[in-house]
Parts: sequence; structure tokens; C-alpha cells
Amino acid sequence: MSDLADLYQQVILDHNKRPRNRGRLPTANRVAHGDNPTCGDQCSVYLRLDGDRIADISFDGSGCAISQASASLMTTQLKGRTAAEASKLYDEFRQIVTTGQAPEEISDLAAFAGVHAFPARIKCATLGWHAALNALKGDPVAATTESHKD
Ligand code: ZN
Repeated sequence: MSDLADLYQQVILDHNKRPRNRGRLPTANRVAHGDNPTCGDQCSVYLRLDGDRIADISFDGSGCAISQASASLMTTQLKGRTAAEASKLYDEFRQIVTTGQAPEEISDLAAFAGVHAFPARIKCATLGWHAALNALKGDPVAATTESHKD
């Protein structure tokens, strides 16, 4: 089990060190901003929606390792997905970070299972996802993890 825990830790460290899809997406047609005041995390998510499918996605922001690594990993998971698939994936991710239990097929998202032991950090892990889901709804209004009801 410790090997598995180490592996998951590596996923988070790797995404924090080398964020994927970071920076403003010039072709984005949806954008939303997320803010986690309890930790000081910020995250903007840029999407290019092609019909109902996420043709491209990027994020930009600053904050703790959990928030930035989670947003980075999220972009790799959401690219090419439909809005419905993205919503379903978020439900699974939220289950992972709140219960520590991951379905086996979820793969890299399970890296964040350890977050469940630190309830204050759950908002860090879900910040980028809240922004992405708000962007998908076409809601240009700034989102905060405080106001988004689970
Ligand atoms: Zn944080």
C-alpha cells in the first residue's frame, strides 16, 4: 500500500512541478474563475467548447500544490469529454477526495484520495473542477468554492 501511496504522491508532485495545459487559451469560448479564500488559491479555467465537447482546455492560477496539481490533472482528464461526462467525472473525483475511496478505473484522479484526511484541503482539490463546471455552464460570473453548493 505504501508503494501505491508513493506513486500517487508522485502524480501530484509531477503535476505541480510540470503543470499541463497551463496558461490562457487563446481560442477559448468559455472561461470561469474559481477562488478558494480559505487557502488563497486562485484558478481560471479556459475552455473551447465544440458543440457539447471540450475541444481544448487550459487553466491558470496560483495557490497551494494540491489546488494547482488538481487543476493540471483535471485538464488532462477533461479534454475531449462532453459536458455530461465532465460532470460525471467530477462526481467521481469529489467522492474520491471526500471519502478516500476510488473506483479502480479512475486511475490518476485517485492520487487525491489522501486529501479526504484533510477536510480543509478538499476545497483546494475541487477548486479547478468548480471553475470548469461553471465554464461549461457558460456562466461568466466569478465562482467561489464557498458559494458552489455540493
Ligand atoms: Zn489550497
